[in-house]
Amino acid sequence: MITAFEVFAFTWGAVWGSFLNVVIYRLPLDLSLVTPGSRCSACHTPIRWYDNIPVLSYLVLRGRCRACGAAYSPRYMLIEAATGVLTLVLFRATVLPLDPDTFISGLWTWLWAQSFVYGLIALTFIDLEHTILPDEITIPLTAIGVFGAFVLPGIDGLEHLMGAVIGALALLFVFGLGWLMFRREAMGLGDVKLVMLLGAFLGWRPLPFILFASATQALLITALMGLISKITGRDNSLTMTTTELDARFGEDYGDAPPRMVIPYGPFLALSGLEALLFGHAFFWEWVARLSGGG
Ligand SMILES: [Zn+2]
Repeated sequence: MITAFEVFAFTWGAVWGSFLNVVIYRLPLDLSLVTPGSRCSACHTPIRWYDNIPVLSYLVLRGRCRACGAAYSPRYMLIEAATGVLTLVLFRATVLPLDPDTFISGLWTWLWAQSFVYGLIALTFIDLEHTILPDEITIPLTAIGVFGAFVLPGIDGLEHLMGAVIGALALLFVFGLGWLMFRREAMGLGDVKLVMLLGAFLGWRPLPFILFASATQALLITALMGLISKITGRDNSLTMTTTELDARFGEDYGDAPPRMVIPYGPFLALSGLEALLFGHAFFWEWVARLSGGG
């Protein structure tokens, strides 16, 4: 049964999802996250508050601008909906069933886990679009992750501090190995900081799973996308020409042939989310509560 609390949790998450859309668009461009308010990207008409309600407005307006009729990508609505659902899942795992003894600490744990998941969502879409993982997100969130693990009840702070350190060291090792073998960055330092962030929130234990699962899923999805573009004859956005590479990385690759550029961040983030949802104790407590009929 869906309670008013759960509707609140989803709505709270969807509003944050709406903010994440702003972060994803504006942060890599160094634009202010606060001003100006949302505008139509086609006609620049400011979007009224009632046309800016997460998920609902998109459905009511059928994904179009009220002023000029320009179509918006469904991505905005999907990010709002996904953020809402994930926030609800975390809410059920941390705050429900509203035990007065654990309510306050559950609320803090919920907010802590939210900052983690919201960071992963923003990093995923920024990396897909710009192949960067901004320090403005990874560094402060690593601090929040370790700090939360030390102050929140029932979480072993030391394990999470070790997670951040071991995660960063493991990836630096891979980074160095890639440099020795290919004389080029096989992955960016942004990936190192992302794994540090994952370790901060998840502890060191899920790190082997995260590294294995992210590599496997990256290989599978890249192969699948290559196959799809071969069949349909359409360019998949993962392949970049040398001119695009020069423009993006500010380097001169000369006459090098186009090569695949695969942002690894989204796969790390996905595996981190999987570790949180399917490996973390509070997820299983939630499942047990549901199956126990509580
Ligand atoms: Zn418009």
